[in-house]
Amino acid sequence: MNIKENIKQIKDSIPENVTLIAVSKTKPNEDLMEAYSVGQRIFGENKAQEMRQKHEDLPKDIIWHFIGHLQENKIKYIISYVSLIHSVDSLKLLKEINKHALKNNRVVDCLFEMDISKEESKFGLSQQEVMDILESEDYKELNNVRICGVMGIGSITEDRQQTCKEFKELKEIFTFLKEKYFEDKDYFKEISMGMTHDYDIAIEEGATLIRIGSKIFGQRDYSKTVKAI
Ligand SMILES: *Cc1c(COP(=O)(O)O)cnc(C)c1O
Repeated sequence: MNIKENIKQIKDSIPENVTLIAVSKTKPNEDLMEAYSVGQRIFGENKAQEMRQKHEDLPKDIIWHFIGHLQENKIKYIISYVSLIHSVDSLKLLKEINKHALKNNRVVDCLFEMDISKEESKFGLSQQEVMDILESEDYKELNNVRICGVMGIGSITEDRQQTCKEFKELKEIFTFLKEKYFEDKDYFKEISMGMTHDYDIAIEEGATLIRIGSKIFGQRDYSKTVKAI
């Protein structure tokens, strides 16, 4: 697996307005540094403690995106440096992030994770749920979080038309929210969708952030990681 070549190849093949997030979960620091050596600066992680360790060990100009399900009791491990949290799936979590961000004197950028997959998924909001959050009294008081767009995970399927449909839906939700709540907010501009097997479709459907792991770093070996209880 030639990480440097993979990064270059992906970067050369995507439009300029699409940002590549190198998803480095489970991968050792050396692998991240290989990507870093060819200019990659944005890395995505899905476990708070793993991200904290890597943030401690690695160069401080790395931009860290949190892409996994975030438990409230783990926010403290990432809040002081995280650049974008892709996976806000409840008002409760958003309030908790706000609380920690305030303590750290920061405004933390977040995306709403939307449930677009046809599979029974554990996480992700519906458009109505997002509207309820945005129209709540609680939300108005959250001055230390900033909603910058939406994120979605497509179904794991060979059916490219299904994937296409899901990404189209996410784009529609983005446009709806933009027009209804964020018309004059330039920072509301991100659509995070597309992984190794479907990022080409995601780009066609308007992704601004793509999250690619295995195509850069190779398959992940979960047998070596300690399972969370
Ligand atoms: C692991 C992960 C990715 C990257 O997946 P690949 O298929 O390896 O590219 C992207 N997004 C999320 C939310 C992930 O958990």
